[in-house]
Amino acid sequence: MIWYPYAQMKTMPTPIRVERAEGVYLYTDRGRLIDSVSSWWSVIHGYNHPTLNAAVERQLHDFAHVMLGGLTHSPVERLSEKLADWLPGDLDYCFFSDSGSVAVEVALKMALQYNINRGSDRRKILALRHAYHGDTFKTMEVGDDADYHFAFPFKQGVLHISTEIAALEQAFAEHGSELSCMIVEPLLQGAGGMKMYDVAFLRRARALCDRYDVLLIFDEVATGFGRTGNRFVADQVCPDILVLGKALTGGYIGHAVTVASRRVFDGFYGDDERLALMHGPTFMGNALACSVALASIDLFEKQNYMQKIAHIEEVSRNALQDLRDERIRDVRILGGCACIEVKDAATLDGFAAFALERGVFSRPFGTCLYTMPPYIIDDEQLATVLFAMRDWFKR
Ligand SMILES: *Cc1c(COP(=O)(O)O)cnc(C)c1O
Repeated sequence: MIWYPYAQMKTMPTPIRVERAEGVYLYTDRGRLIDSVSSWWSVIHGYNHPTLNAAVERQLHDFAHVMLGGLTHSPVERLSEKLADWLPGDLDYCFFSDSGSVAVEVALKMALQYNINRGSDRRKILALRHAYHGDTFKTMEVGDDADYHFAFPFKQGVLHISTEIAALEQAFAEHGSELSCMIVEPLLQGAGGMKMYDVAFLRRARALCDRYDVLLIFDEVATGFGRTGNRFVADQVCPDILVLGKALTGGYIGHAVTVASRRVFDGFYGDDERLALMHGPTFMGNALACSVALASIDLFEKQNYMQKIAHIEEVSRNALQDLRDERIRDVRILGGCACIEVKDAATLDGFAAFALERGVFSRPFGTCLYTMPPYIIDDEQLATVLFAMRDWFKR
C-alpha cells in the first residue's frame, strides 16, 4: 500500500485520482480541476506541455540516464553552461541532485567543508524562524517549523532569527565569527507559512556576510524561476551558493541543483584529494531531467513569463487585497503567490471540498489558504481560483 506524505494514514481523506492532465487542468474522478498549487509549485508551464514532452521524448531515444561518476553527456553539459550564463554573478559551478532537500544538504555540506578546507572551525549556521528547507535531517535542523519536525526537535549549532534587521545585526555581532553560513528562503518563506519580507533584509545580510566572512546561501527551491516576481531573488542580492529545485524541470522530473560561486568552488580545488566534495546522488544529472530543464528554461525566456507573473500579481491584488473578515489575520501577495492567513486553522476546514465544487484543486496548510498557479493560467481560470478563496469568507 502507498504511504502518503504528511498524512495520518488512518484519518486522511481519500486522495483525488488523476487520469490525465493538460494545461492548468487535472482530469480526475471528481471532474476537471484547476491545479491552483502547480503540484507543489513546480508545474509552471502547465501539464502535458508539447515542448517539454518533445524534449523528454527526443532524449529518451538516445538514453534515459547514465551515472555522472566517470561519465558525462551533452544534456548535463548544456544545462550547466546555460545555468552559469543565466544566473547572476559568478554562480557558475553546478552540482546536481535528485531533490530540493538533497540540494540543500549539499549546499550546507559545501559551506561547512569550505571552512574545514581552509582550516577554520566555524560550525554555526544562521537561519530564519519559520524556515522550511526540506525533510532530511540537516534540512530539518536549519528549518524552523514544528508542523514538519515536531517528532525531531533536535537542533545543533543552528541559530534562528526573525526577518527583522535588528535581529540580524545582533546575531552577527554576537556570533559573526563562529558562523560558517547563513541560509534563507529569500523574500518568500513557503512551507513555513508563506511569510514575506523585504529585500532590505537580504541586502543587509549580504553586507554582514561579507564583513564577517560568512557564506550566504539562498534556498530558491520554491522562489526560483519567477515565483516572487523576480526571475531569481538572486538577481537582486547575489548569494555565494544558490539552490534550485521544484520548477527546474517544469515539474516533469524530480531534480535540483546547488550552484556555487567561484570562491566556494576554489575552496575545494587543489591537488589534495581530501579537499574534494564527497557527494554523488545516483541520479544526479539525469539526462531526461536535464533535457526537460533546458526546454523549460527556453520556454521561460521566450514566453515573457515575467510579464505574466506581474499580471497574476495584479489580478490577485485586485481580487483579494480589500478582503476583510475577522477570521483573517493577513492577506499577502507577491508575484505568483497569494496567501490568506487566517487566525485559526479550523477556519479552513472544509475549504478543499468547497473549492472542488468550483472546479479548483487546493491544499491549504496550517493557517494558510494560498495559490501558486501555473504561469500559463488565463484570467478566467485565475478568477475562478481567487473567487473560491474569497467567497469562502462570504458564506
Ligand atoms: C520544497 C522545498 C524544499 C525541498 O525540496 P524537495 O524536492 O521536496 O526535497 C527545500 N526548500 C524549499 C524552500 C522548498 O520549498
